[in-house]
Amino acid sequence: MTATAPLVLVVEDEAQMTRFLRAALESHGYRFVEARTAKEALAICTAQAPELILMDLGLPDGDGIELTRRIREWSQTPIIVLSARGRESDKVDALDAGADDYVTKPFGVSELLARMRVALRHARRGAATESPVLDAGPLRIDLARRVVTLDGAEVHLTPIEYRLLALLAQNADRVLTHQFMLREVWGAGHSHQPHYLRVYMATLRRKIERDPSHPKLLHTEQGVGYRLKIEPESPLIKS
Ligand code: CA
Repeated sequence: MTATAPLVLVVEDEAQMTRFLRAALESHGYRFVEARTAKEALAICTAQAPELILMDLGLPDGDGIELTRRIREWSQTPIIVLSARGRESDKVDALDAGADDYVTKPFGVSELLARMRVALRHARRGAATESPVLDAGPLRIDLARRVVTLDGAEVHLTPIEYRLLALLAQNADRVLTHQFMLREVWGAGHSHQPHYLRVYMATLRRKIERDPSHPKLLHTEQGVGYRLKIEPESPLIKS
């Protein structure tokens, strides 16, 4: 544990969950600060500048989605939503409000820690010079040269397939909502045509997955969107 351990703000009104998170985070080298209300959370965000925020959706004085939107007006601090709600629309709303990811309660500690590492890495990378080459298992995406290879052999993609893959690669390990992907790749007028996406993602899978019927890279987040997975399936315990 070092002095530079990331400070994590946990916005959560249930004491039991807060205790669980405190134990999990502190034993893995994170510093921990808690807020039980939206108002407290905003005050801590401005006063202590946490590096990461874990956000419950149902708060006594407001909604975690609205709070995410407020924080995003001035801060790029990564936000992971802790959703007790199984509803997909809540996840979509949270991501569209600016959350980086979500974890559905109940969740395992290793799952949460993996998502936190991704969010922190992404935030730090955003500040530094990003490598234009991304390796995802057998797949290599060279964003500077616009070249994609699978097991060393070049994969030929149409312009739209490439834009979809590049968008996922730039946001590796994060869930991108259908609406976001449609808007980024096809433009604002097409954000209500998810069938475009389904068709192109199916083709993309056939081209970049070793076994398209058991995709290892392009994950479907049911009812929410897609995620290009880079982080190993079973992350090792953080040393
Ligand atoms: Ca709550």
